[in-house]
Amino acid sequence: MLTQIVPETELAPGFPPTVGRVGGVSRAYSVAEPLLPRARVAQPVSARRVRGVEVRGVDVGPETRCAHYAGERDVIALRFGCCERYYPCFACHEAVADHDAEPWPRARSDEPAVLCGVCGATLTVDAYLDAGFVCPACDAAFNPGCAAHHDRYFERP
Ligand SMILES: [Zn+2]
Ligand SMILES: [Zn+2]
Ligand SMILES: [Zn+2]
Repeated sequence: MLTQIVPETELAPGFPPTVGRVGGVSRAYSVAEPLLPRARVAQPVSARRVRGVEVRGVDVGPETRCAHYAGERDVIALRFGCCERYYPCFACHEAVADHDAEPWPRARSDEPAVLCGVCGATLTVDAYLDAGFVCPACDAAFNPGCAAHHDRYFERP
């Protein structure tokens, strides 16, 4: 699996600051710590902050590309109704979440549910759809192919 595991021998001296044992595996953080980019972890989870927003998935890049969608224009993350978390794609949700995906609910259409991985703008579903696959904040081009999967991401009226 694509994970960001750094062998303990390559960790800087003094890192990790605290080490506990979870399930027999030495870990640098408590279980409650959501971001484990440099720690030895048992699960194929990766997560990173993109302009301050946590994005979970498989091999999440700095502009929210992932193991499944890594093209030039694959620079949005989508928020799911089930867990209110952002993922680069539905396959990322399937890979790292412990529950079934729910699209972003129509009843919460006034809340942001799309993250631009280039500038960090968060958009409502309508703002994203109305923008024609261009970020209204930074003009980054989004992948129009995502439209084929909108039903997985957005609850329709
Ligand atoms: Zn979820
Ligand atoms: Zn993905
Ligand atoms: Zn943008």
